Amino acid sequence: MNKVILLDKRPLGKPLLSDFKFDVEEVPVPGEGQLLLKTLYVSVDPYLRGRMNDNRSYIPPFQLTKPIQSGIIAEVVSSNRTDFKSGDFVSGILEWKEYQLSEGKGITRVDDIAGNLSKYLGILGMTGLTAYCGLTEIGVPKAGETIVVSGAAGAVGSVVGQIGKILGCRVVGITGTDEKVQLLKTKFKFDQAVNYKTEENLKDAIGNACPLGVDVYFDNVGGDISYAVLENLNKYARIPLCGTISLYNEVKPPSGPRIQPLLLVKSSLMRGFIISDFSDKFPQAIRQLMNWLNEGKLTFSETIVDGFDNIPQTFLDLFEGKNEGKMIVKI
Ligand code: NAP
Repeated sequence: MNKVILLDKRPLGKPLLSDFKFDVEEVPVPGEGQLLLKTLYVSVDPYLRGRMNDNRSYIPPFQLTKPIQSGIIAEVVSSNRTDFKSGDFVSGILEWKEYQLSEGKGITRVDDIAGNLSKYLGILGMTGLTAYCGLTEIGVPKAGETIVVSGAAGAVGSVVGQIGKILGCRVVGITGTDEKVQLLKTKFKFDQAVNYKTEENLKDAIGNACPLGVDVYFDNVGGDISYAVLENLNKYARIPLCGTISLYNEVKPPSGPRIQPLLLVKSSLMRGFIISDFSDKFPQAIRQLMNWLNEGKLTFSETIVDGFDNIPQTFLDLFEGKNEGKMIVKI
């Protein structure tokens, strides 16, 4: 039988395990022009939370009682197509099912030379591209400048900081545990890191970590953490607005400090983006990320949890900061 995970209820606030439902169906048989795919790795991502609301956004909401979808690496088990053969590995936005059919649309072949397919969900996938494109296209950092990144020990943030170092910048990360502070300074070579959960005065802690002020703020979290960074901006600062995870589970948008005066007096540019805005840059970005990996200039972390049944809990754990680097479920 084939296990499937459906969205059963739209979460109100923080999602719960009871918002998901497990179902079973027959393993499908591929017809003409179809492939049978077996799921190997499932990406769980903060943005999936937005798709659980019944809101108009840049991507349609999940439908109730229908399977959740996310980035997945799968193996072609059998093929009735000429462009994919059995044994190929593919990547695409697929359904949370152990087995599923595909007509080849929206999936791309990935190789397994390094025996490390999960990297196509992280460093060589959506989150690596987000870090590279958001930082280089909007942040446009110059050597000697200071970059601050929030969500720094996560999939996007850990890559942003390392690219900042490669480009000759001072890099400061903001994260939620002392272990992650150490990880940022040792494995990822950040110059400084700040624990937002233990600092009494985050504005001052960031100011102390950035004696020359902040030129680029790569914002993964929004809310109060971001306000504390904006209070340390230099003139002409750039702010790639990548994510607002601190607000994703708010039922009503909280009213908070107003950021406009801080941006105005520092002549700063804040620009939101969705990674697909930069799809024309992907081939060059992947080449660059691969080169840096091969040269040993870039590294990555993955938190890999085993088992199809653990997908919903692993998704929930993103909001508790239980991951270092990319959060992935291995089937
Ligand atoms: P991630 O950082 O690997 O995982 C989420 C992390 O967020 C957690 O580990 C946790 O780390 C932190 N977090 C959770 N709740 C928080 C809160 N209330 N306040 C502050 N931090 C909190 O996830 P990711 O995939 O790399 O994504 C990072 C951000 O980028 C997300 O906002 C995501 O939606 C966004 N994103 C945007 C795009 C785009 O196209 N614009 C693409 C990919 C991702 P701590 O332990 O440090 O709290």
